[in-house]
Formats: sequence, structure tokens, C-alpha cells
Amino acid sequence: MTVGECTLLRSLLDEAGTVVLCCHQNPDGDALGSMLALGEVLRQLGKDVVMVAPDQYPDYLQWLPNSEKIVRYDKRKDYVDTLLKVCDLVICLDFNTPSRTDDMAEALCASPAKKVLIDHHPGPDIDAVLTISRPEASSTSELVFRVVWQLGLFEQQGRHFAVPVYTGMMTDTGGFTYNSSDPDIYYIISQLLTKHIDKDKIYRNVYHNYSENRLRLVGHVLCHNLVVDAPRHAAYYALTRQDLKRFHFIKGDAEGLVNMPLQIKGLKLSISLREDSDKDNLVWVSLRSVDQFPCNEVAARFFNGGGHLNASGGRLYCSIPEAIETVKKAIDAFADVLSK
Ligand code: 5GP
Ligand code: MN
Repeated sequence: MTVGECTLLRSLLDEAGTVVLCCHQNPDGDALGSMLALGEVLRQLGKDVVMVAPDQYPDYLQWLPNSEKIVRYDKRKDYVDTLLKVCDLVICLDFNTPSRTDDMAEALCASPAKKVLIDHHPGPDIDAVLTISRPEASSTSELVFRVVWQLGLFEQQGRHFAVPVYTGMMTDTGGFTYNSSDPDIYYIISQLLTKHIDKDKIYRNVYHNYSENRLRLVGHVLCHNLVVDAPRHAAYYALTRQDLKRFHFIKGDAEGLVNMPLQIKGLKLSISLREDSDKDNLVWVSLRSVDQFPCNEVAARFFNGGGHLNASGGRLYCSIPEAIETVKKAIDAFADVLSK
């Protein structure tokens, strides 16, 4: 953080009584982790804090301390709409553009409150008085740590700050297996560990917390649905609504699945298609890549989405067979780079 950013944030916080923290739809460990960690700090500062998520957060993150305090926009729209009209400050975490908050975007944009953005997605596009955007950072949770550290507020923090920060950093780096070579990350972890968090337990809480159904779903997809385009070093699979029903799919059950094809030697791109459980002609797309292959470009050109260089997402408004055709076209379009 620059000195200017810190000074401005400090004065914005000093002036604010009611602060709304919000994150993106389908919140992941980093979205929730950064929001819960900052929420804890602001509560200690005596602020009236409301944490808002656009919709449901996954089952495998329900153990996070204070997650029960998070208000869902899809459940309490009127309350949040009013709150956004009267609060003093809105802090947007882990998203770069209002549309990532889905149905909440309109109320967020219309809010007269001052806004702060803390995020690590490229291309920040939020009308904020302070934008702390660091695409090179592992996670928004890391940025929250840095902010709190620089404001001199780390010392008084305890587990309810350290656990969500660690969780966000861990989940956005796949358990520190990608986007995680900055030495600072390990300094930050060493500091978090002084708060007596059990990092091994956090790992188990996140990654070894699935149902039997989830494990069998993964087995099914890898055995029956995965298509590997070996010459192009790409793979994709589609999860139909029938698959979801058969394995009693709940939110979060597909988490991490899209990374698995990258375990194949030499594979550069993995694409996941998942039919929405309720809405027809809505397919959720996840993309993962390795090294310099830009899956965010593929997401932007073919899947109405975007994201990071190696982890992106989007959606298609069509049937699964049509979505598969789009995937094939996308792989064709990038064949030159992928085949190398
Ligand atoms: P996931 O596959 O886990 O849903 O998303 C992977 C990454 O892509 C996340 O960092 C997420 O923020 C980003 N992402 C997912 N969907 C979109 C989208 O529609 N637009 C943009 N810009 N980023 C997305
Ligand atoms: Mn993130």
C-alpha cells in the first residue's frame, strides 16, 4: 500500500459509522475470507459493520468464524437496499466490476456512500474514492492483511482475523500451489501463525470436508465426461443437470474439479461446463491454465467472462451440447499457442 492509500483509508474509516462490506456472487474462500477478516477489524474499531454476499456461500466454508453474520442479498434485498442508501462507506472486496455482484449491482452503483475497492482482479471498474487494485497479489485476503498491517492494527488481532485471511490466501492459490511464489506470502503466513491458528486443520476444513456424493461425482466426471484433446494440451468436461441430480449436487461440490485435468502431464488448459440446477439455457463455465496461457482471454472471447491469467470463469446462455461446441471453437481458436 502506498502511504497515500493508507492515509486516505484511515481518514475514510475515521469518518465512517456504518460500513458495508461486500463481495462477489458465488463467493469463494477469498471473497468470504477477506470480508470476514476486515469485518472483524472494523468491529474492533467500533464500526457498525454489515457483511453482504450476493447469494449463498458454499457448504465447505460454513465453518469460517462469523460466517453466520453474513447477510445474503438474495434473501434480504430490501434491508440491504436501504442499508446501501444510508451507510457511510462501502468496501468492495475481491471483485473488479459491479456486475460481479449480480442482482446487487444496481443498488451498489446507486449507493451515495463513498466506496473503497480492495481487489486483485485486473481492470478495476468501480466508481470508488479509493481503489487498491493489485493483480499481482495472491488474493484479496493478502491485501486485507497488508492494509491492516500498515494501519498498525495487526497486533491486536486474534484468530478471527488470522483464520479467514489464511483461508483466503490458501484457497486462491490452490493450497499454495500456484500464484504463490512471492516470498512475502510466507512472511505473512508466519505472522498469521503467531495468532495460534491451526493451518493443517484449516486445510482439512476446506479440502477434506466433502460428502461421499462429491467424491463419487468427481470419479464419474473423470471417468465418463472428461474429454482430452492431447495434441492441443487441452481438456474439458460437461456436468449435466442429470449428473447433478444423480449425485445430489450441492453448491461447492464441483469446487477444484476443473483443476484436476491439469494433473495430466503437459496439459495447459482445462474447461468445465456446468448446467445450472434450475435455469434452462444457463451453463456455468470455469477455466484453468498453467504458465503464461491466458485463460482469461478465452473466457472473455468465448464465455462472457474473465478473471485471472490462470483462473477464470464465465457463463453461456445455451444448452450443454451447444456449450460443448463453443468449447471446441475456443480450443480451435487458441490451437497455435496450445499445441506448442
Ligand atoms: P471460478 O472458476 O472459481 O468460478 O472462477 C475463477 C476465477 O475467475 C475467480 O477468480 C473469479 O473471480 C473469476 N471469474 C469467474 N467468473 C467471472 C466473470 O464472469 N467475469 C470475470 N471478470 N471474472 C470471473
Ligand atoms: Mn480472489
